[in-house]
Amino acid sequence: MSPAFRSDAYINGEWRAAAQRFAVYNPANQEVIAHVPNLGAAETTEAIAAAHAAFPGWAAKAAKERAQIMRAWFDAMMTDIDRLAALISLEGGKPVGEAKGEAAYGAAFIEWFSEEAKRAYGRTIPTTTATRRYVTIKQPIGVCAAITPWNFPMAMITRKAGPALAAGNTIVVKPPHQTPLTALALAELAEKAGIPKGVFNVVTTEDAAAVGKVMCESELVRKFSFTGSTAVGKKLGAACIAANVKRVSLELGGNAPLLVFADADLDLAVKGTIASKFRNAGQTCVCANRILVEDAVYDAFSKKLTAAVAELKVGPGDEAGVQIGPLIDQHAIEKVEKMVAEALASGASALTGGKKHAAGAQFYTPTVLANVTKDMRVNTEEIFGPVAPLIRFKTEDEAVALANATPFGLAAYFFTKDVNRAWRVAERIESGMVSINDGIFSNEVIPFGGVKESGLGREGGVEGLEEYLETKFVNFGGFA
Ligand code: NAP
Repeated sequence: MSPAFRSDAYINGEWRAAAQRFAVYNPANQEVIAHVPNLGAAETTEAIAAAHAAFPGWAAKAAKERAQIMRAWFDAMMTDIDRLAALISLEGGKPVGEAKGEAAYGAAFIEWFSEEAKRAYGRTIPTTTATRRYVTIKQPIGVCAAITPWNFPMAMITRKAGPALAAGNTIVVKPPHQTPLTALALAELAEKAGIPKGVFNVVTTEDAAAVGKVMCESELVRKFSFTGSTAVGKKLGAACIAANVKRVSLELGGNAPLLVFADADLDLAVKGTIASKFRNAGQTCVCANRILVEDAVYDAFSKKLTAAVAELKVGPGDEAGVQIGPLIDQHAIEKVEKMVAEALASGASALTGGKKHAAGAQFYTPTVLANVTKDMRVNTEEIFGPVAPLIRFKTEDEAVALANATPFGLAAYFFTKDVNRAWRVAERIESGMVSINDGIFSNEVIPFGGVKESGLGREGGVEGLEEYLETKFVNFGGFA
């Protein structure tokens, strides 16, 4: 049975219908689930004005009071977790169990930041002059605008809205056109929790560029946060600075290396590779994209990995036991097919998979590719599908050089039992996050984010709140 959902946009505490609507599809079978408002520049301007009007009242509340309201939002999410999971799975395609994991992960950002906001401490600074006293205070920035991707329909919103609201800001969110229903469910729960009107707004659209332009250029928006591709992030970040030098956070694409050293526990490495590479059918920004394996264990590792990958169950997200759902849309499946075909034509071989899956038009068979070389696109670009390319290395230096040979630097993984190597490699890898002997690491308490072209800023952890606060210095002068 389909979960209940709202299908109108949410602006200034009101549900906003529209004559112009666009279809939301179930990626498992391409059926239409809903039609949501196709809003544009005028409605975005209106939502920003509502967020601006709501800002003084929300910012003036004591952190504790905001925290209590946000805690109610978190509780509402957890009470409704099964519906949220069903909705995430329905419009995003991931298996329901995995979707429930996302719902708990997404809700945890609201819980964490409601608690952290109470600890947004300033500093006293020892004076340089006897007649002065120095302090810093932390203040909200103002209206925030956020654009989010479809691969985590809930968590990519709460990672931004959590710290924004906790710090006393208000926010306008533009969810992706593929998964707007989860965003609207969050608005429904915000309303239920008593989040005041105008504090959290959701503008649905099929014209991302029109809405994005207003968000980037508006003088009322003081902070812009984007999660998505590097190409779009670069453009929007540049537009924000050029328009009025607003604060910008960018969580962009990755090309995560996963290194398996000869001294690794190979079973743990296989488990970690499956967890990292095949989560959400390979469609996460931190998915291992390139599996680099030391020569001495290449054959043993590839054999074990291939056996495990061949066992993965493919099917619609609501079917029991399914581990690999559909890819998000036709464009995504075509891209994966093309990248694999190119690799095979250039000398790679498929140890398992290597083709579409019979479950439906947007399903791809979990794949392991051997004999992959550095120049192949499966190595140089984000695959965003259930395909694990294997590349050999001989030395630690070579492994690190291969890992760093990319303009991206989001996540990196490696498997070793040598603690000295663990420190060495963790320090040498150019990425915002490194996970040793573990394929999954993300949660609300850690600073998530990238270096190089993977982005600017961090989400989660104490760092995540800083992104939504201004530090103001105050000088108390004139002491006798
Ligand atoms: P995308 O095309 O950049 O889309 C992301 C968001 O940007 C969507 O809401 C999209 O709206 C919007 N958008 C697209 N073009 C726009 C424009 N010209 N102006 C304003 N907004 C625009 O990215 P995607 O391919 O859907 O998402 C996957 C990418 O996100 C991958 O590269 C992945 O690595 C990255 N990602 C990064 C993180 C991280 O934390 N670093 C997390 C998740 C995903 P519409 O969908 O409505 O067009």
